[in-house]
Amino acid sequence: MQTQPKASHFINGEYVEDTAGTPIEVIYAATGEKIAQVHSATPAIVEQALDAARAAWPAWAAMSGTERGRILRRAADMIRDRNHELSVLETYDTGKPYQETIAVDATSGADALEYFGGMAATLTGEHIQLGDDWVYTRREALGVCVGIGAWNYPTQIACWKGAPALACGNSMVFKPSETTPLCALKVAEILIDAGLPKGIYNVIQGLGDVGAALVTDDRVDKVSLTGSVPTGRKVYAAAAAGIKHVTMELGGKSPMIVFEDADIENAVGGAILGNFYSSGQVCSNGTRVFVHKDIKEAFLKRLSERLATAVIGDPQDPDTNFGPMVSERQMDIVLGYIEKGQAEGARLVYGGKRLDRDGFYLEPTVFADVKDDMTIAREEIFGPVMAVLDFEDEADVMKRANDTEFGLAAGVFTNDLTRAHRVAAGFEAGTCFINSYNDAPVEAPFGGSKNSGVGRENSKAAIEHYSQLKSVYVRMGDVEAPF
Ligand code: NDP
Repeated sequence: MQTQPKASHFINGEYVEDTAGTPIEVIYAATGEKIAQVHSATPAIVEQALDAARAAWPAWAAMSGTERGRILRRAADMIRDRNHELSVLETYDTGKPYQETIAVDATSGADALEYFGGMAATLTGEHIQLGDDWVYTRREALGVCVGIGAWNYPTQIACWKGAPALACGNSMVFKPSETTPLCALKVAEILIDAGLPKGIYNVIQGLGDVGAALVTDDRVDKVSLTGSVPTGRKVYAAAAAGIKHVTMELGGKSPMIVFEDADIENAVGGAILGNFYSSGQVCSNGTRVFVHKDIKEAFLKRLSERLATAVIGDPQDPDTNFGPMVSERQMDIVLGYIEKGQAEGARLVYGGKRLDRDGFYLEPTVFADVKDDMTIAREEIFGPVMAVLDFEDEADVMKRANDTEFGLAAGVFTNDLTRAHRVAAGFEAGTCFINSYNDAPVEAPFGGSKNSGVGRENSKAAIEHYSQLKSVYVRMGDVEAPF
């Protein structure tokens, strides 16, 4: 497959290059080989993208929602038609197994375009009667939105931010992570092929400095970031200086509680999904797995048995279901946490090593007897490392589950109906799961509380974050002034 894009950036409906920008090498995580190169955006490219987005959005916002939605839905269909090709590219960009990317990445991007495309025509204001006078509200676009993505879901993030922004009549300048620059360019190309006016969805490459240049620009009205908490702090502060709207989708260290009455097979399945899917590089992962002490050994036994059946290998092979880390850097970070887990006295029950092969492969890793204050129980690792902690009492485990700066997600496995809902209500987290883990349908709000973020992606809730209301007061009689 041709992995080298036609050019680094996509601005005003076409590929644009400026080789004066710092080169960014794209490394295939499964082999360590260079598969493409792009250039970071120069100030001239940033200017070009923002100018294009600024100039284009008023006409786009003036179109009817039905017209805008039709284009987004057409793009969704085109993405689905090209799912195989886009999934192969996603696998090259991230190293995630094709078995995952064919099921999740482009398709969830298409879901977002279809959902918000369908919703575009339904976006209305309201009428508020005040005696003879009345107020009507108009739901208006914000203007130019900046999207900044993490590297774990490059197609999905480009669509999750783009679809609601465009449905509401905004334009977007999207900056992918420097680690995975390829997929968002394809999203931009497909949107244009689907009929999107030029300048409405632009992609420029770069490191954090390019993101920072976008966030601080006066032409930008809204910033939506998916990234770590430290980056979120910086971007939120920079956006605040310009009183810009923000959505912050940040990191997590989410708890998953497995009660003694849980179906162990399902709980183990949930823990696998919530720790090892995408080699653990998922923000909402349930990486602190609290298991009731009565079932702990049975849980660990089944977990180890099932992990032994993981097919680790070439991510482009459809049979592979566990791939490499996205980069050598991320692999080294995770290896550092595995060392800390051992040094601080956690019991390594599975994996723990780098695999002896090319690429950035780690074994799926499980620690048991983890204590709340250990580093691996407190910090986001963003890799295939599960921490299993013991508990006996519901009130106690709830306190421990919530004792974290993060609040992205949380899960509970139990067959006790009332306990399940009581626990879900008690979680300090934006996205909770009962007898499941990591489902993210476009129909449901997704986002974090506490340090895990601000705002929500997906669902009707996203509309509030990509539009604003204008109230228009209409007086039907004379104006009564005091003098
Ligand atoms: P980073 O926070 O390192 O980077 C995120 C993005 O922000 C990248 O595009 C990065 O550019 C850019 N960036 C960095 N510094 C700045 C700055 N000062 N101003 C503007 N932009 C900047 O995250 P990772 O890419 O390492 O992704 C992993 C993190 O993302 C994890 O913490 C994970 O939990 C979180 N995440 C959250 C999700 C959610 O929905 N809540 C989903 C997925 C991931 P560059 O890469 O070029 O440096």
